[in-house]
Formats: sequence, C-alpha cells, structure tokens
Amino acid sequence: MSNQNFRSILTGSFSTPCADNPTVAMIEAAYRHAGIDARYINCDVKATHLKAAVRGAVAMEWAGFNCSLPHKVAVIEYLDDLAEAARIIGAVNCVAIRDGRLVGNNTDGKGFLASLRDVVDPAGKKIFMLGAGGAARAIAVELGLAGAEHITVINRDAEKAETIAALVRDNTGSDAVGRPWSGKACVPDGTDIVINATSVGLGDAQAMPEIDLDTLAKGQIVADVIPNPPMTRFLREARERGCTSLDGLGMLVNQGVIGVELWLGKTLDAGVMKQTLRDIFSASDAG
Ligand code: NDP
Repeated sequence: MSNQNFRSILTGSFSTPCADNPTVAMIEAAYRHAGIDARYINCDVKATHLKAAVRGAVAMEWAGFNCSLPHKVAVIEYLDDLAEAARIIGAVNCVAIRDGRLVGNNTDGKGFLASLRDVVDPAGKKIFMLGAGGAARAIAVELGLAGAEHITVINRDAEKAETIAALVRDNTGSDAVGRPWSGKACVPDGTDIVINATSVGLGDAQAMPEIDLDTLAKGQIVADVIPNPPMTRFLREARERGCTSLDGLGMLVNQGVIGVELWLGKTLDAGVMKQTLRDIFSASDAG
C-alpha cells in the first residue's frame, strides 16, 4: 500500500466556446508553482447542459468553477446563495462549492478593483467610465461598494448606461449618472479615474475608443479592461499625457487569484500568472 495521494483537487470552467480561453494555463501554472495538487479543467458546456454540468461538479466534489459566456446569468438558478456584489450585478462568473452548497460570486469587478487598489483607493473618487456591458456593470457596482463618490457611465446605447447608473445609485452609497455617447467623449474636469470598459482595442493595438484625448489630465489614472494586447493605444496615449495607466491583464490575473482564494483559501502567485498570459499572448501575436 502506498500512502501517496493520487486524488487532485478539481476546479475549472464552464463556457462555450471555450477553446480560446487561456485561464486554464494561467491557473495551472500557478498551482504548479505553489506545489498545490489541483487541476483546472476547461469544459465546453452548451447551454442545455449547464444544469447537468453543475450537478456533475457537485457530484465529483469539485472545489468550484468559473462560468463564462453564455452561462453567467443562467447559472444563478442552480445556486444556493449569492455574494452581495453578484446579487446586485445579477451575474455570476465564479462558483464556490463547500459541503455541497453552491455560492455564486462575481470576480470581474473585484479583479479590476484589486488592480486599481495597487495605485489608488477608489473611495471618494470621481470616475468616468466608457461602456455599459457586462464588465462595466461589474466594475461600476464594485466601485460603488468601495465608496467611489461619483460614477459617470457613457455608452452608445444610453439606456444601458442609465441602467448601470441606477444599479449603483440604488444599491451602493455612490452617486451615478448614465449619458449617451456620440462623437468624441470629453472627460469632465475633476475626474480622478477614467476606465475603458468597452471591447474597443481587443486584439487590435491601433483601435481606440472615441475620446477627446486633450481632455485627459496629467496625474489621472487611466484604466483599460482589454487584456490583449495589454498596452492598448488608449493607454499609450494616456501615458504620453502624464496619466498613470492600468492594463486589463492585471484585472484578469487578479480575478483568477480571487477565484482560487474562494475555492481553496490559498493565494496564488500573481506574477507567475501574469507571465504565463504574456507568453501566450505574445506567442499568438507572433503566430
Ligand atoms: P459586452 O459585449 O457586454 O459590452 C461591450 C461594450 O463595449 C458595450 O458597452 C458596447 O457598447 C461597447 N462597445 C463595443 N464597440 C464599441 C465601439 N466601437 N464604440 C463604443 N463602444 C463600443 O462585453 P463585456 O462587457 O463582457 O466585455 C467588454 C470587454 O471587457 C471585452 O473586450 C473583454 O475582453 C473585456 N473583459 C476583460 C476582463 C479582464 O479580466 N481583463 C474581464 C471581462 C471582460 P453598446 O452597448 O453601445 O454596443
């Protein structure tokens, strides 16, 4: 008889399509680095199989899993409880399983906030946010819960911007407004933090959201959610104007770190995760 343990802790992700999601490489590199005997299984789960997949994870005693598109809202009906931010946002991207109980979290906004906190505490700050999709919604709610003073959300589809602003006003102590975005957006005077939460710049180092760059002020913090390429044109232009830049790679890494903390109660090495993603993204650029 051997006293070795051949049973790994199981974690993973349910989404479809899933083949281009590099999270598995990022997290397994950090598991190996930390000497944790755990796996992260990237599963292609179609919408009709989500319930069975969730039951399967419970049956196989997984520690938890990420949910990506198209399951972030649909998964909620299979959960026992929701963390506060996930309840307000209305979407779950990370589920922790403990004693067969499923608790839904949303780590999108939390990952962003962890990156932001490396440079500034958002409490009392004025925020100008471009975009009103899923990422924007999660970030705005977390900024509200973190005590931001005011959040302006602008979006081409203005109704979505107002929906997020109302969510922030109704559920957090922050004030917020939604505005239509047409033509070049101007950053209001007195803004502390500007965030690109649109998909503009993803996979295109020259694309940039329509914004009047002359309205950026020296010393402002300018953040982008785009993980690849991390140094977007928007961030390059902001840096040239004396702003502090924050890339979307940090958000992605921190989201992974927070997820594993929820599942295993262990904090992975963010540097190993970031380097793994950088290597993957630069290899795909070269290819
Ligand atoms: P959604 O599809 O939900 O939202 C996309 C947003 O971008 C909408 O507000 C949309 O505006 C806006 N948009 C798209 N094209 C333009 C354009 N040309 N000009 C102005 N606005 C535009 O996507 P998500 O919110 O889920 O994701 C947004 C980005 O965030 C993605 O690129 C994704 O990679 C990134 N992301 C990064 C994460 C990280 O960890 N770094 C985590 C999650 C997402 P409209 O409503 O008017 O169409």
